[in-house]
Amino acid sequence: MNWRQGGYFSAGLETDPELFRMIEGELKRQQNGIELIASENLVSRCVLAAQGSIMTNKTVEGTVFKRYYGGAIYADEIEALAISRACKLFNCGFANVQPHSGTNANAGVLLGLLKLGAPILSMNITAGGHISHGHPATLTGRDYTVTHYGVSRRTERVDLDEVRDLALKTRPRLIIAGGSAYPRKLDFSQLRQIADEIGAYLMVDMAHFAGLVAARLYPDPLIYAHVVTTTTYKSLRGARGGMVLWNDPELTQQINQGIFPGVQGSVMLHAIAGKAACLGEALREEFTLYNIEAQRSAVLLAQKLSAGGARIVTGGTDTTLVLVDLTAFDLTGDTAAQALELAGLAVNKNLIPFDQRSPERPSGLRLSTNAGVARGFGEREFATIGGWIIRILHNPSDLGEIENIRNEVSELCAAFPIY
Ligand SMILES: *Cc1c(COP(=O)(O)O)cnc(C)c1O
Repeated sequence: MNWRQGGYFSAGLETDPELFRMIEGELKRQQNGIELIASENLVSRCVLAAQGSIMTNKTVEGTVFKRYYGGAIYADEIEALAISRACKLFNCGFANVQPHSGTNANAGVLLGLLKLGAPILSMNITAGGHISHGHPATLTGRDYTVTHYGVSRRTERVDLDEVRDLALKTRPRLIIAGGSAYPRKLDFSQLRQIADEIGAYLMVDMAHFAGLVAARLYPDPLIYAHVVTTTTYKSLRGARGGMVLWNDPELTQQINQGIFPGVQGSVMLHAIAGKAACLGEALREEFTLYNIEAQRSAVLLAQKLSAGGARIVTGGTDTTLVLVDLTAFDLTGDTAAQALELAGLAVNKNLIPFDQRSPERPSGLRLSTNAGVARGFGEREFATIGGWIIRILHNPSDLGEIENIRNEVSELCAAFPIY
């Protein structure tokens, strides 16, 4: 039989029933549950189409209009479009949209700007830092000499005096700001001053607040940082992947070569098409409204949880992220997350500053309004969700109560359908 008669170019996922069942299951899970995980979001049908497009067939390497392979006319146009939209959105001179992930963006920048073994200074994980900022289990932890700063015990915010002390003591070549579980504004101007005192680069990883920066609802790191990295699938509400932004033309070659050939080979053009699509959406007025609602809803969710007896780390949030300390409930993050998942509320367990517990059984939960607001929720819905969370935190093993809430969650989801 001719293999083309088997529907190779025409039949879809249904030709693989085993895989089809799993992806359908995940679709139902996303439709019928509330996503509160801060590193997730719900993309538009347009981003989905771009990322699932035939661009996956094309292989290119190198930078736009300087490829090693032919047939790159549309590949070049798409990558150039993503770059120009990124530069316009963040008001910066240069962008590299090739990183397959946030981790690769960070690794590529460090590889491009630093020598092997160079000292770096970044935020520790319990304070909210990210594993790709020099954790010993990662390549960045192996390749550089890493010192971490934390947060103040009293305010749970970055202590700039500590950062300056450690910078003067360890003379890092690069300082990293920004993390995965830090809900507050950062003072980029002060951080840049510290970097300048010792002649270090300042790198800001804005993965969790890039959307707010784009909407001008958070301090702009590009004014102060030498280089800014981000993911595109969290607060930017878009395609899976990462991105690097900067202004100084002197850094262009080092950064681009750090990404390719430094840490990556050929480009994922379907992901870049998805990035172009999400950056196009982010340039529209609607994206500002989305971020205003996400930020407002997060403030309200924090208030609601606090009124219900939970302690909010730092006392609130400036972003769309809320970090909850469960100590008052005599509950660990893993148990709470499991109970919440049974009710259709997806969250992640998280360390809190100065956590005495392990990452597997930490004292906290991390929540975000990003995905909920993408499906149309606002303050009203997040007030309701906050109420459900508190009820479950009080009765994590009451299966009847969880079942009641699960039904209410399904009803709310049905009122805000996705896909
Ligand atoms: C999520 C995140 C990353 C890593 O992104 P991956 O795409 O998972 O590699 C990097 N930095 C920060 C601050 C993040 O929150």
